[in-house]
Amino acid sequence: MAIMRAMVMRSANAVLPSLPLALEQRPEPTVSSPSDVVVRIAGAGVCRTDLHLLNGMLYAPTPLVLGHENSGYVHAVGSAVTSVAEGDPVLCYPFITSGLERSERAGGHASANDRRTPGITTDGGYCELMLTSERSVLRVPGTADLVALSTLTDAGLAAQRACTRASAQLGAGDVAVLLGIGGLGHLAVQILGAISAATIVAVDINSDTRAFALQLGAAASHHPEDLDSYTNSARVVMDFVGSDSTVELSRRLLRFGGSYVGVAIGGHIELPLTDLVERELRFEGVFVGTYEDLCKVTTLALSGRVRPTVQRYDLVDANRALHDLAEGRVRGRAVLTP
Ligand SMILES: [Zn+2]
Repeated sequence: MAIMRAMVMRSANAVLPSLPLALEQRPEPTVSSPSDVVVRIAGAGVCRTDLHLLNGMLYAPTPLVLGHENSGYVHAVGSAVTSVAEGDPVLCYPFITSGLERSERAGGHASANDRRTPGITTDGGYCELMLTSERSVLRVPGTADLVALSTLTDAGLAAQRACTRASAQLGAGDVAVLLGIGGLGHLAVQILGAISAATIVAVDINSDTRAFALQLGAAASHHPEDLDSYTNSARVVMDFVGSDSTVELSRRLLRFGGSYVGVAIGGHIELPLTDLVERELRFEGVFVGTYEDLCKVTTLALSGRVRPTVQRYDLVDANRALHDLAEGRVRGRAVLTP
């Protein structure tokens, strides 16, 4: 039996220990179903959701190979697979589903009852080889930077879906406030810039990140405590932080008829119904995205209009990447490479 290296979560722990993941030797996954695809991982993004899984805020079965944001090269395919072949560079759509449910036929993979998610419900990409299925890979050109593009399969996907929702509300010059310019936010600044004519205001507590947001195309960037001039002025607030304080901030920033688009988890929405009614506010959530959303954001990236910023870490340095993310030391997205 062939063996590979994997970084494994053995249990959840309320406090992030110094070595949250263990390096283990695991059997390589093999094709068993006709639609199976085994991918040799090129890049595996490190997401805040991994921290939520590690601290028990979100449930995952253990032991588990984390990593739900993956790209790589097709290593082996099942007997029924026709659309990709060994050696093809692919991005891994984060959900594995049969495609047979009615909701899926309308594109709703995220809500499918039979959904499996490598890195969350089954073993993911913090390893050398990962099992997925033909419906869940997107082939990209051989010239593509698979490490950078791995970030599209979760961060870019959710940012794309959130920006599509937001852009439907945004006319030219309308103010869109983006809270948190990290893995998702740094992609959202670029996506929204590509698909809308809104005035993008980036908000982050870190001054280097605020300067970074301006380089990415934001019209202005501010500390969250420096937003008084935007009170009652935002058509859309996109929240990539997800805390009680960002919800409260959003409520102040939104103008009449404005929309809050929530992508991150962690806080609660509490607001007087007078706000909802008399100011016609809308609060909506975005959960990852569809395969079609992945196609759209990949098109933007391949055309150069969206450029993921990544900090590379060797697979065995996954624990350092997780700590850097927790401490706010990552610009853009941390990506593990085996
Ligand atoms: Zn994620």
